[in-house]
Amino acid sequence: MSPSSGKKERLFIFDTTLRDGAQTQGVDFSVEDKRQIALALDNLGVDYIEGGWPGANPTDTAFFAERPALKHARFTAFGMTKRAGRSAANDPSLAPVLDAKVDSICLVGKTSAYQVRVALEISLEDNLDNIARSMEAILARGREPLFDAEHFFDGYKADPDYAFACLKTAHEAGAQWLVLCDTNGGTMPEDVFRIVSEVKAKLPDARLGIHAHNDTEQAVAVSLAAIRAGVRQVQGTLNGLGERCGNANLCSLLPNLMLKEPFASQFETGVSFENLKQLTHVSRLLDEILNRAPDRYAAYVGSSAFTHKGGLHVSAVAKSPETYEHVPPDKVGNKRAMPVSAQSGRANVAANLTIGGGKPDLASLLRDVKHREFQGYSYDDAAASFELLALRQQKTLPRYFTVDRFSVTVESMRDRDDQLVSRAHAAVELLVAGEKIRNTGSGNGPVNALDAALRMDLGKYSSYLADLRLVDYKVRILTTGTEAVTRVTVESADGKGNRWSTVGVSENIVDASFEALTDSIIYKLYRDEAPA
Ligand SMILES: [Zn+2]
Repeated sequence: MSPSSGKKERLFIFDTTLRDGAQTQGVDFSVEDKRQIALALDNLGVDYIEGGWPGANPTDTAFFAERPALKHARFTAFGMTKRAGRSAANDPSLAPVLDAKVDSICLVGKTSAYQVRVALEISLEDNLDNIARSMEAILARGREPLFDAEHFFDGYKADPDYAFACLKTAHEAGAQWLVLCDTNGGTMPEDVFRIVSEVKAKLPDARLGIHAHNDTEQAVAVSLAAIRAGVRQVQGTLNGLGERCGNANLCSLLPNLMLKEPFASQFETGVSFENLKQLTHVSRLLDEILNRAPDRYAAYVGSSAFTHKGGLHVSAVAKSPETYEHVPPDKVGNKRAMPVSAQSGRANVAANLTIGGGKPDLASLLRDVKHREFQGYSYDDAAASFELLALRQQKTLPRYFTVDRFSVTVESMRDRDDQLVSRAHAAVELLVAGEKIRNTGSGNGPVNALDAALRMDLGKYSSYLADLRLVDYKVRILTTGTEAVTRVTVESADGKGNRWSTVGVSENIVDASFEALTDSIIYKLYRDEAPA
């Protein structure tokens, strides 16, 4: 359901994560990745999902061969206006786009006279003809034509008449949307506002869109300026993926449009306030698919976006969250956090207990935290170990398994190339539900080997751990009190996009790692309600 008031104007959200986002350095979507992301975007409520460029590469061709089961969004193919000297149907790069089973087709075409001369090396008239014939070809296939006006702002600054002529040509040939692209991402918001206003005045019945890049860290600001000047379609990507520095970040744009004035009162999108609560999840899901650590400092959806650490902030937020929060975190599906540390008060400790039932003795738990911080533990970045500490204090944590003994050996030897290579082997003896289990594992280091051995077979709990992955491992050597100790922090993830961190401390790195690894497993078993 859309938030409707009757008076609000409809603003259309066009997602290009799967097309422009696929041009991000280090990003390589599989067909299945694309399908999963498309379904998440559709559930969120975006209006257009640009899936890629059919015919341009095997992944995109395969993705378009089987249309994802979208409920709301218009499935959209991307391509380029036809080249000069050929008909649209005979252009080998345009034909597969026109044949794609989609609702809409978005074709990029040059609108900068300079780019037409230098990059295309054709006449300005031929370029106009290519734009017109391409839009007509889309209409003839019964699809909705969108025109991506490449380099529009740069082109308009240099030669406004020609840039405008390109738009007018596309409009008259039937384009339903004229999307103004700041392709090189260098235009300032004030200039975007002025240029969009001029276009709007000259072409009042055209529907305009904006496609901004983040090369000056202003893609969101540029998009908002364009909306204020009259565009009604905004293009962007999840987490701001995209060519070079990325596109306008939908994870910031959407909440700005829905929660901030003047936009909130003026517009409605296809994303309901209920669906906006999925935003943090969708953002993390994308990172999970890309096997990337989420940006903890991201606006709205980052894990630090509503984290309060300073003592003054924490005590004020405990009284009223508005003291240090510009919007409530649950509006975007994020969570407030106040990491536990030696500076914490009882309110802070209580706020960090999210999975356990019961009522821990907060004063004694706080004493425990302070004592353990003195030993070298840190719960600032290991909230899962803190939760386990509270459960152990209340004696409500089931004893899922007991480790009787473990050993690790590291073997180094010369390989055929006379290089010294190491291999680690671990053995673990466990008691699970009265049954003795002996596991072995190996890896390129002692921690990998131990992790492999621990999880090789955990009896009835093995199925709970099938999707557990170690995603980060940090080691610090600290001097506490009189001696040096090692603190290991492990970050784990599962197939549902959950992430959690655990900590271990010991005089040696193997014991510290083992403690952090077992805490990670125990936390997952408890959270997923594995039987005791
Ligand atoms: Zn782009």
